[in-house]
Amino acid sequence: MEGRKVIGWAARDQSGHLSPYSFTLRETGPEDVVFKVLYCGMDHTDLHQMRNEIHSTNYPLVPGHEVVGEVVELGSEVKKFRVGDIIGVGCIVGSCGECFSCKSNIEQYCNNRIFTFNGTYKDGRPTQGGFSSAMVVHQKFVVGIPEKLAPEQAAPLLCAGVTAYSPLKQFNRTDKVVKAGILGLGGVGHLGVLIAKAMGHHVTVISSSDKKRVEALEHLGADAFLVSSNSAEMEQAVNSLDYILDTVPAVHPLQSYLSLLNVDGKLILVGEAPNPLHFDSVDLILGKKTISGSFIGSIEETQEILEFWAEKGLTSMIEVVKMDYANKAFERMERNDVRYRFVLDVAGSNMEY
Ligand SMILES: [Zn+2]
Ligand SMILES: [Zn+2]
Repeated sequence: MEGRKVIGWAARDQSGHLSPYSFTLRETGPEDVVFKVLYCGMDHTDLHQMRNEIHSTNYPLVPGHEVVGEVVELGSEVKKFRVGDIIGVGCIVGSCGECFSCKSNIEQYCNNRIFTFNGTYKDGRPTQGGFSSAMVVHQKFVVGIPEKLAPEQAAPLLCAGVTAYSPLKQFNRTDKVVKAGILGLGGVGHLGVLIAKAMGHHVTVISSSDKKRVEALEHLGADAFLVSSNSAEMEQAVNSLDYILDTVPAVHPLQSYLSLLNVDGKLILVGEAPNPLHFDSVDLILGKKTISGSFIGSIEETQEILEFWAEKGLTSMIEVVKMDYANKAFERMERNDVRYRFVLDVAGSNMEY
């Protein structure tokens, strides 16, 4: 039996152009949450998949993995949500449930994780994301949006926000001021600055040019700004940072950034570069430094960042647009012409168009 009919906006081919597409959701299982989509964040990963630039894309593809919705129906065994609740779904909607990662509540590292879109669900059907009038998701992969948070504000936290929060959590300490570096000031980077500041860190934004200095210092509240092409500035900052959150999703030389780390410092990669990155082993050995990676965050951490955001009264910088602007918004995103994230007002859009 089939579930309800919905309208999504889908890419049909490698052009990535989005247009209306009608399909049916699966029938509501005992542990499923059915919700009307209110808002959905827009991410570079959406665009790459729409254009078949990473994992092979199954068309039609409905993107969207920063989804905020309102519960309209619940399976018989769902106890933690009620109809009318505002909820969120991030990058994954399923995992095996049995491996080490799943048992340790870090299901984002399960080898059988199911992505929110362009994945295959347990019933063999393709998963479709949040650029859609409604979705059905197993309760384990649904988080509650705190009442204090505006739903459109919550959207970017579900992927970009938790991507920054999960690795920064280890530095959330009160016994000393942590010296933080945030490399790259895009969707993840700007949230990283806000999170690190809220954790009490001394935050240096590292950027390739001077263009974002005012933005970083005055609007986001960073403590310092470092231009990576300015060798005198870089030289002065050697051995000054406890960690660098590296959000750059492109090939970049690691050597000069590693030199900024103090002894025992960590470079944390969260942006996937399309080709190998290079470093010299002595740059790590002579300072007991670490290069590590981190992938989004767990469902538990997604709930945590939402509570953290509400409790600290933080505001992300977003531009809310309607669905018929989505193609244009992706064009602008490619030119970095957005401060810092587009959020689609799905419920307020004419989905049929
Ligand atoms: Zn697993
Ligand atoms: Zn994402």
